[in-house]
Amino acid sequence: AKTLRLVLGDQLNASHSWFKRVDDDVLYVIAELHQEVDYCVHHVQKICAFFSAMANFAEALQRAGHRVHYLTLDDSAAYADLPSLIQSVLVTCQATVFEYQRADEYRLFTQLRVMSLPKVRVEECDSEHFLLPFDEITQQFSAGKHRRMENFYRGMRQRYQVLMDGDSPRGGRWNFDSENRNRLSVDDIADVPEPLVFANDVSAILHRLERHGVKHIGRPETKLVWPVSRRQAKELLDYFCRYLLPYFGRFQDAMTAGGATGWSLYHSRLSFAINAKILHPMQVIDAALYAFETSDGVIDLAQVEGFVRQILGWREFVRGVYWANMPRYAELNNLAASRELPSYFWTGKTKMRCLSQAIGQSLDYAYAHHIQRLMVTGNFCLLSGIDPAAVDQWYLGIYVDALEWVEMPNTRGMSQYADGGLVGTKAYAAGGNYIRKMSDYCGDCEYRVKDKIGDKACPLNSLYWGFMHRHRYRFAANPRQGMIYKNWDKMAADNKQAILDRAQWCLDHIEEL
Ligand code: FAD
Repeated sequence: AKTLRLVLGDQLNASHSWFKRVDDDVLYVIAELHQEVDYCVHHVQKICAFFSAMANFAEALQRAGHRVHYLTLDDSAAYADLPSLIQSVLVTCQATVFEYQRADEYRLFTQLRVMSLPKVRVEECDSEHFLLPFDEITQQFSAGKHRRMENFYRGMRQRYQVLMDGDSPRGGRWNFDSENRNRLSVDDIADVPEPLVFANDVSAILHRLERHGVKHIGRPETKLVWPVSRRQAKELLDYFCRYLLPYFGRFQDAMTAGGATGWSLYHSRLSFAINAKILHPMQVIDAALYAFETSDGVIDLAQVEGFVRQILGWREFVRGVYWANMPRYAELNNLAASRELPSYFWTGKTKMRCLSQAIGQSLDYAYAHHIQRLMVTGNFCLLSGIDPAAVDQWYLGIYVDALEWVEMPNTRGMSQYADGGLVGTKAYAAGGNYIRKMSDYCGDCEYRVKDKIGDKACPLNSLYWGFMHRHRYRFAANPRQGMIYKNWDKMAADNKQAILDRAQWCLDHIEEL
């Protein structure tokens, strides 16, 4: 071959212009890499999903007539890292040109950019995936400066003419977020459709991980539930549009411990397929819009707008924040948080039912939905002052969809406020009452959600006030948060002290909670 082209594990985009033409002078290399399973301790299902999807992608390319060199962990074990593997393959196939798609994670982006390949012409191209072109990121986002997601999102709606009537938003409003706050009743829970899951045989991959001593967390499953091919990803997308989209927005923030459907509810679970680029974001948006337009009113505007906002808005927005601020972003720790993550983050064994549910299902499925990530595990870490680097590592490892460009702004930014408000305009801090309102977790909890003090009091309540008190100088002036101090100031001094003492006790005994 004259040209070697690298396809990374999250670049499984069959519609990329590379693949329009079959060329025998081009060899594609796809490799299971030790550096990629080692840079963080991942959930075993996450590794299986990526490896399995990569192998399927390689096979699909071969079926279409392309030349592909697939390396398993066995084959790539001889190389120290990606550059040394590339160098070796270049020599073996005597290629004079090396092409790669710009990587989305800073780590790989830099590794590929600084790689020196004597006597080889190196070309970097776009991954043809995102809706905001890479070159425009610096026009829309400035390092160290907050930009409102809502403004960005409106711009994207206009740019792509999504849910627009000319210059105006469909239905006269840009945002139906306020209608997305319903809780699930017992009857609602009984109506949630069964999640569509797959049963992909990943036993060979599991053996490989064992053979190479790859460290991992979470429940190993020989039958992987995640979609690992274009066909499966499309099936999941169709299923979502048909059965879940009609209630997506309404129950977007709801949580339940109930039954076999509680872990996924009305969420699409498409994040892995989109982030691995098996699905294009506009393909997903178009499918949802089509379902909406042809649903005879079964799907209302608030549902589809809520979904579009996540993909056209949030997903593109956090990527902009990431690239405008890296590599400094990875070091930000605005609230000077330094505590270690308690060990129940790897076992789910805590008396706090909300946490044990959210962590337990994360270990079982490599998945939790947004509000569980933000308002259960994230909120607990925020209130307890856990080091954002440790929080990042946990999220980056445990979720099937976790890639740094999207994980980090969500975790370090939105959830931990460690970026001082580059992503969000307030800290997402809450006491037990929020969990009580949005879930059924509190009913069977060993702690009492109504109490702030005493051995049985929900730890979140005192931790919340401890957090607000500790950071008063930062949040008092925040228009979205400042008014909360009026409630605090109205409390009797001895009551306030008792709450702060309980918060301190919880922090001192964090492993026992
Ligand atoms: P749905 O609820 O069905 O939403 C549809 C799609 O919208 C998702 O597939 C995703 O592509 C997109 N989306 C929704 N919210 C966001 C968001 N805040 N940022 C970016 N895209 C969004 N998402 C990841 O893809 N990878 C991560 O590593 C990740 N880490 C997170 C960490 C924290 C602390 C928080 C609060 C959120 C994180 N998210 C992450 C965002 C969000 O929680 C997930 O995208 C979502 O839960 C994936 O499940 P789903 O496909 O069922 O989403």
